[in-house]
Amino acid sequence: MENSKLTSKDLFARSLRVAPGGVHSPVRAFKSVGGTPIFFARGEGPYLYSVEGERFIDFCQSFGPNILGHRDPDVERVLRETVELGWCFGACEPYSLQLAEFVTQHLPWAERIRFVCSGTEAVMSALRVARAATGRPSILKFDGCYHGHADSMLVRAGSGLAGEASSDSAGVSEAIASQTLVCPLDDEKTLEGIFLEKGRDIAAVIIEPMPANYGLLLQRPEFLHKIFDLAHQNKSLVIFDEVISGFRASFGGMAERLGVKPDLVTYGKILGGGLAVGAYAGREDLMDMVAPAGRVYQAGTLSANPLAMRTGLATLMKLKNQMVNDTLEKRTNEFVLNLKEVLSPGGFDVINLNSVFWIHPKSQKPLRSLKDLDGKMSAMFSKLFHKLISKGIYLAPSGYEVGFISLAHTEAVLTEALTKIKEAVREL
Ligand code: PMP
Repeated sequence: MENSKLTSKDLFARSLRVAPGGVHSPVRAFKSVGGTPIFFARGEGPYLYSVEGERFIDFCQSFGPNILGHRDPDVERVLRETVELGWCFGACEPYSLQLAEFVTQHLPWAERIRFVCSGTEAVMSALRVARAATGRPSILKFDGCYHGHADSMLVRAGSGLAGEASSDSAGVSEAIASQTLVCPLDDEKTLEGIFLEKGRDIAAVIIEPMPANYGLLLQRPEFLHKIFDLAHQNKSLVIFDEVISGFRASFGGMAERLGVKPDLVTYGKILGGGLAVGAYAGREDLMDMVAPAGRVYQAGTLSANPLAMRTGLATLMKLKNQMVNDTLEKRTNEFVLNLKEVLSPGGFDVINLNSVFWIHPKSQKPLRSLKDLDGKMSAMFSKLFHKLISKGIYLAPSGYEVGFISLAHTEAVLTEALTKIKEAVREL
């Protein structure tokens, strides 16, 4: 595709005729930054190459799965080997067993695991287990956390009583929205109030323990511990949605960083090494409620397909054996220190947790919940985004998305990126 006469503009015009908004996932459409999306023909290590043949240093990395970069050679070798075995049997095979054993051996809270094909599916299924286990109807989530597009998670804080939610997408009925309660992040008081009033209805509290879908709203550990205390006092479950933070915040994700044992955990992204995977895992007694062991129904034609299982295992083994998360943490901390300096004249600051970073307008106080966010953000980010594109730097096309550093972002690549970002800020 690359270097032919194709242009991103033409491809997008064609796409608009066949797909809603021209895309297959909304944020790809550049709606929040303006302009038309770049069509990429291929990826290699830290780079993406557009159909026009331009090279970009890619800080989106497919929104997280590519922690080793595009086409990591160890993962690619396993992928090629697996193709020769066939890629979907709809029957038992040893590959999902190997990945399941690896995960359950290394993550103590994952006593049992079930593979699905996306983070959304993982969350939907974990919520079903929580409702079945407790016999309660409600789920408590936090405003600003994203958990995929299951109906009950497409809600936002209502304007009325604390905890009430209203649907945040057409097609989600108020009846479904009313079974989800919404609490602000970083707010013990409101959380206590919701539990006081509705604790007996709450099947589970679900949280991104490293909220990374509305910028990076890092929580105080005390707040996260408070969630456990209140939930367990009220006999509600705690679900950690580690679709982004799993195998990223540390090998064991935020559960490991915090030293906690959530009742259920959801994974995705890195777990499949870039192929379509999600999983939910957790306490044996809860997971054994899932069919065919128990009466919570959940199934999938393409679940645990060998390609995704083996690329996932190759990715996790490399992370573990080479202590990649430690390398990335050191590298990103240093990069972010320099990036702060480079972006400061443009009015931006940067925050990171391990290899996830977020560029945001400077602020006097830590950004921990939606009320801390600045309304100027989108406009400021759009200008920066397009300037960076002109310098060959690709970020996710929204100021509310985080950036990802992969193992392929070597120090040399990061230094090149800093030079280009500096030029971009100078020209802003
Ligand atoms: N949970 C979190 C925390 C996520 O970030 C995402 C996707 N970005 C999802 C769930 C949904 O995952 P998927 O897009 O694979 O359905």
